[in-house]
Amino acid sequence: MPVQEQNFWLTTAKMPSTDPAVPLPDGVNVAIIGAGFTGLSAARTLAKLGARVAVLEAETTGWGASSRNGGMVLTGLKLGVNKLISMYGRERTQRMYAASLATIDCVERLVREEKIDCDFTRCGHLEVACKQKHFDDYARQVEVIEREFNHTLRIVPKADLQSEIGSSIYYGGMVDEVSAGLNPARYVAGLAEAAIRAGVTVCENARVVKIEREDRQGMPRWRITTSRGALWAREVFVGTSGYTGPATPALRKKLIPIGSYIITTEVLPEALARELSPRNRMIYDSKNYLYYYRLTPDNRMLFGGRAAFFPETADSIRQSAEILRRGMIDVYSQLRDVKVEFVWGGTLDFAFDIMPHAGQMDGIHYAVGYAGHGVAMATWQGQQMAKMIAGEKPENPFVGIPFPGAPLGLYNGRPWFLPFAGAWYKFLDWVS
Ligand SMILES: Cc1cc2nc3c(=O)[nH]c(=O)nc-3n(C[C@H](O)[C@H](O)[C@H](O)COP(=O)(O)OP(=O)(O)OC[C@H]3O[C@@H](n4cnc5c(N)ncnc54)[C@H](O)[C@@H]3O)c2cc1C
Repeated sequence: MPVQEQNFWLTTAKMPSTDPAVPLPDGVNVAIIGAGFTGLSAARTLAKLGARVAVLEAETTGWGASSRNGGMVLTGLKLGVNKLISMYGRERTQRMYAASLATIDCVERLVREEKIDCDFTRCGHLEVACKQKHFDDYARQVEVIEREFNHTLRIVPKADLQSEIGSSIYYGGMVDEVSAGLNPARYVAGLAEAAIRAGVTVCENARVVKIEREDRQGMPRWRITTSRGALWAREVFVGTSGYTGPATPALRKKLIPIGSYIITTEVLPEALARELSPRNRMIYDSKNYLYYYRLTPDNRMLFGGRAAFFPETADSIRQSAEILRRGMIDVYSQLRDVKVEFVWGGTLDFAFDIMPHAGQMDGIHYAVGYAGHGVAMATWQGQQMAKMIAGEKPENPFVGIPFPGAPLGLYNGRPWFLPFAGAWYKFLDWVS
């Protein structure tokens, strides 16, 4: 059977349907752009706080990264802790790290409260070292994280690594038992259902093309024009991540959209699945140009990486199937004769400082910049930003930090430099 160019997770989930004949509401308290984890989590929270909310989605519910990702619900941030401390100081970094732990609890609580059937499990994550010096650095990281954040990670020396992973190519590993895994398509579907139950109107195929500040009956309001008509809102919240476009040009210039690709194999025999990942961890390696992988709940190997740097196209998806298959066999020679059944891609959003950012820009609220670490963080940011929009003062150490643009402002939202960035990361992996 040829490889299907299709998101495997979507074959396991049913998104809630909305009626395309129902017109957009005339006015709402909050209009939310994007029906992914960020937008839907914010919508649910706002509706529960009593707001009238519409979610405007250009495609269909969960169409973006939220249904396409690896389903790894990870602690920590993309940047290492020493780098974070050097950028933000100890106190703010402690709050950021505490927030990263709170994001996992936030997802767990939401899944339990809304009874979302998405295979959420606290299976922990394993980072594996591609070089001896990466492994040596783990000991330093564990020490800092224990001392500064009171959080315990476990080092796994090479001699013991067989108990964690059925591959002998790595120099050792580091385990965080707090991380979790889930089925992202079922999770985003459940989140949308929960938002709808709370009273949110989800408008699919409603691409926002213009957001303007205007007077309505003497009151300043946002007029939002979509491909399905216009509506008024008191507040606007943007959760468009790697798909941020020309409707929010200032935000778009702060984000680099980067492609990430995933393959899944056929269902593996139970014994082979246990051999590959005895503790069913969420696994990723220590490179910049990294691989991430895990078993799916039905025992397929899901293997992802930046096989191409550009956001996904039909060509890049096709090429990724073979690139990722070769990468998977380098890690797991046991999978040489196993069939790859699915390949798909999605787009991540990187800020220029590789940090999550949230706040207000030109009066519009936003939460973006998850850098491939967004399953838990996007859910949490949606919730925290919703509370902020509702007038509360929730903890959010990512609000108010500098949000840098491109060096010298040389960027209009079209990432012409990605091939160079890709080559640069490969070079860094070679030398560091
Ligand atoms: C292949 C891949 C693997 C990943 N793996 C992991 C992982 O294992 N763990 C992890 O933590 N993170 C992972 N991530 C990142 C994670 O999926 C994202 O950070 C997260 O889903 C972002 O959610 P979001 O709601 O902000 O954005 P999205 O889910 O991308 O949703 C944004 C939505 O906005 C809509 N939109 C854009 N413009 C407009 C407009 N003008 N009008 C209306 N709607 C608009 C889009 O159609 C889209 O549906 C991965 C991402 C990818 C692509």
